[in-house]
Amino acid sequence: MKCWSCEEDARAVCTFCGRFVCKEHYKDMSTFITMFVGANNIPKGLAVANVIWCGLCEPQPEPISMPELY
Ligand SMILES: [Zn+2]
Repeated sequence: MKCWSCEEDARAVCTFCGRFVCKEHYKDMSTFITMFVGANNIPKGLAVANVIWCGLCEPQPEPISMPELY
């Protein structure tokens, strides 16, 4: 596969959107891999730092309401 931003061979895949990126065009970002309700009913998140990000897609900081699903 080639990098989404240039014609170099890709080295990784964006964690968020699936675009392939080369070493020159990748960026990194933190993300949650899972969230759950822990002891005493306290929400907890398991985060990972420095995951591959293409720098083009826009992971949203807030959940998006989808009331039409109910
Ligand atoms: Zn992306």
